[in-house]
Amino acid sequence: MKYCRFTHEGQFRYGLVEPVAGEEHITRLLLTAPHLGEGELDELPSRRMQQVPLDDAVLAPPVEPTKIVCIGRNYREHAKELGHPIPTEPLIFLKPNSSLLRPGGEVRRPAALSERVDHEGELGVIIGRRCRRLSDSDDVRPFILGYTSVNDVTARDLQNKDGQWTRAKGFDTFCPVGPVVSNELDPWAGVNVETRVNGEVRQQGTTRDFIFSLDVIIRFISQVMTLLPGDLIATGTPPGVGPVQAGDVVEVSVEGVGTLRNPVVNE
Ligand code: MG
Repeated sequence: MKYCRFTHEGQFRYGLVEPVAGEEHITRLLLTAPHLGEGELDELPSRRMQQVPLDDAVLAPPVEPTKIVCIGRNYREHAKELGHPIPTEPLIFLKPNSSLLRPGGEVRRPAALSERVDHEGELGVIIGRRCRRLSDSDDVRPFILGYTSVNDVTARDLQNKDGQWTRAKGFDTFCPVGPVVSNELDPWAGVNVETRVNGEVRQQGTTRDFIFSLDVIIRFISQVMTLLPGDLIATGTPPGVGPVQAGDVVEVSVEGVGTLRNPVVNE
């Protein structure tokens, strides 16, 4: 199934997304936040609503995480393009929740502080069950609620200057997410992740090329911090990162999720 979060009668609500006459529509209101529901995602309580085409809805980020955990350098070709060795264990960092941005929202380049702001299109994983200290034999799939598209927007010059990444990765609007969450993908089998700027393809990759699989990533993070329902993991970016300018439109398409589209402005 697929769901989104959107403004309905003045409130943020979750809605079921289904094709109607070949076009995605929000067809039902979900009565609990999906990450707080019990049992299977497909069995969430819902009620009928006036159907809305997904493209006409005012979307919100489809996640309400307690934290956003990101993986650095999870594709060989991306590590190489930045001049880094291939990591031998996952490199993790956090983005603040205040960086979340809705589909269609403006990425605000902090032009007075940074001269180079890059796109990083990534597969996002949403956690569905609390996990702590998973063992090497634990199957991580039951802990995953679904998948989405993420843009891990990065002030590259500040990342290089600071030596750690909180400022470079943490500006408001630096974490666009959406448009929907789907549990219908299989990253183990390979999911395409593509990023375009003004319609031109800049990044292309497949999750088959991950250095660290989702099993390794989730077990690794769970040794450090308890992952809670709703938490978001950005799984790393394929090669082709590059700068965005005011006036650009960045699109991140994760196969099976749809396109996360955000214009860029200066502030
Ligand atoms: Mg990244």
